[in-house]
Amino acid sequence: MTQAIRTTCAYCGVGCGISAMPTGPRSVTIKGDELHPANAGRLCSKGTHLGETVGLEGRLLHPMIGNKRASWDKALDLVAKKFRETVDRYGPDSVAFYVSGQLMTEDYYVANKLMKGFIGTSNIDTNSRLCMSSAVAGHNRAFGEDVVPATYDDLEEADLIVLVGSNTAWCHPIVYQRIQAARAARGAKLVVIDPRRTETCEGADLHLAVKPGTDVALMNGLLAWCDAEGITDAAFVADHVNAPEGFWEHIRTGHDLWTTAKTCDIAPALLEQFYKLFAATPRTVTLFSQGINQSIRGTDQVNAIINVHLATGRIGKPGAAPFSITGQPNAMGGREVGGLASTLASHMDFAPENVDRVGRFWAAPRMATKPGLKAVDLFRAINEGRVKALWVMATNPAVSLPDANSVREALESVPFLAVSDIMGDTDTSVHADVRLPAAGWGEKDGTVTNSDRTISRQRPFLDLPGEAKPDWWIVTEVARRMGWRNAFAYDRPADIWREHARLTAYQNDGQRVLNLRGHATIGNDAYERMEPFRWGEERPFSDGHFSTPDGKARFVLTKQMDIQEPLKQWPMTLNTGRYRDQWHTMSRTGLSPKLARHREEPLVEIHPRDAEELGIVDRDLARVQTAQGNSIFRVAISTGQRPGEIFTPIHWTDQMSSGGRTGLLPRPLVDPHSGQPGFKSTPASVEKV
Ligand code: SF4
Repeated sequence: MTQAIRTTCAYCGVGCGISAMPTGPRSVTIKGDELHPANAGRLCSKGTHLGETVGLEGRLLHPMIGNKRASWDKALDLVAKKFRETVDRYGPDSVAFYVSGQLMTEDYYVANKLMKGFIGTSNIDTNSRLCMSSAVAGHNRAFGEDVVPATYDDLEEADLIVLVGSNTAWCHPIVYQRIQAARAARGAKLVVIDPRRTETCEGADLHLAVKPGTDVALMNGLLAWCDAEGITDAAFVADHVNAPEGFWEHIRTGHDLWTTAKTCDIAPALLEQFYKLFAATPRTVTLFSQGINQSIRGTDQVNAIINVHLATGRIGKPGAAPFSITGQPNAMGGREVGGLASTLASHMDFAPENVDRVGRFWAAPRMATKPGLKAVDLFRAINEGRVKALWVMATNPAVSLPDANSVREALESVPFLAVSDIMGDTDTSVHADVRLPAAGWGEKDGTVTNSDRTISRQRPFLDLPGEAKPDWWIVTEVARRMGWRNAFAYDRPADIWREHARLTAYQNDGQRVLNLRGHATIGNDAYERMEPFRWGEERPFSDGHFSTPDGKARFVLTKQMDIQEPLKQWPMTLNTGRYRDQWHTMSRTGLSPKLARHREEPLVEIHPRDAEELGIVDRDLARVQTAQGNSIFRVAISTGQRPGEIFTPIHWTDQMSSGGRTGLLPRPLVDPHSGQPGFKSTPASVEKV
């Protein structure tokens, strides 16, 4: 009898365990895995309907050179030759990879090793840059390492949960269910800080509809309140936190309740209610997501949150921590192996001793010595002629990056473009010189890490269709053809996992929390049977020791950026986000008829007062225009919007719709520390069409 296969959901960073029972060559029955610590059997609508998405509609089944089917040998030889020629002629920084939080950790590891250790450039960035890189930068600044100091279990131990910039009910539904269970079981309070009144607010005790982009003021005001009320933890701060010069003077100046309420555009009484609740509740988890990260001040916003937790000693204790939750299934695994252009490997930065250490471990012929181009800069560098060969893996930047028109120009103009993907024609792959068919969910074999550091296996239960191959195999074959056969002599994902584990432990005498020493010699069978486990201590920093040279955490002085008043040409502010039942550019969720029913088309949500002024009624079509581009959406009039602000979803692509193209609208501006694009708060206008 066929056995159910225990695997992990393809979608968000909650990382739910799934029990998949194959019922035919391309069919499967999906249930939640009751033994998985993230979800204990629960699944949201996206996970529940995964079975509807494993068909072969639209799949890329064979390597293609241009529009002609090619053998794997020919396609791989061509990719290797083009990258080799480009590096020889223009140097290592003339090539780049743009990869994805959909990759397995093992895929990420070999791609990162090839670029940073062998080709000799750090020009490998990931779509996770768009999701949580501000949290990474914030963690590094505060803790000295990218460590999430909370777990999902903390949600059940907290007395107060603050959600900042997160429509958790839609974007991380199982986390939201756990929060609601905690409210029911022990009376935990829930506060939501979000300009929009989303479904998440329906189950909250308090909603602060702050003006977009005022989170630094809000958190600095909270810290000033805690300081004035005497609820900061002076002993913890003295022993475990360093403050930059002028930090406390800054907090104590101009962050009174009235000034903060004015900046955030909310009623002082409401703000006071939140501050009092926070001050009175030591067990507080502050959970944040894209509303914080996807901002041109995202890293400061992250640090303003962490500052409050450090100052009140609410870290490293049960039910008390700042908690970044990630969008993608393996954004965290990518962080762990150095899948970002700004990190090296195993949570190391580019300090000379780290470059030396990793170079010796890999026996690397040409180590990258400095950070590479981050996502937005990478595509800009293509348009400027500095990057001449690009390999895109498992992502669709023509839709998902801001200012998508300029990204499309880059994809059209780059002299050589390889795309590995499960889908045949995407807005990105239509520009490719070579398309490589990759394994999809249900076919992939490897590990992923969720938002609370739990590593789980994704296991295959479907045959690879056509000639599709796993991403790690494709990268490895190109590396071998470029001349590094021995360094990439992997036969299976377990070989890569062991090497990654050895690297985390290599000369790591306790200075980094990430250490998978126990997995360095794991056998193939044990890898196959691997149960979900969380790396690091249960509660990092519970001993007050941080990964900085002096072992102390760091306050970061953060200043609220002036909010630009609306220009006459752009009287509205555009915010963007997800729908409950869709995922990214819908290449998988778009296959499910049941999921499509939730929102059949992309809507622009607009406040009734604005709609009236613009002569727009519900269900009209309206054009949303920004300095970057425009697109047409169906109108949904909603009192959940603040007046003057609109919202559109990120999912629709050129391949499926002539309108609803949110990616054309945001500015290509990024946070100066993380390089994360500011998808929120784009100046815009709306007109009826
Ligand atoms: Fe999948 Fe996220 Fe839903 Fe869990 S919450 S089933 S990981 S989409």
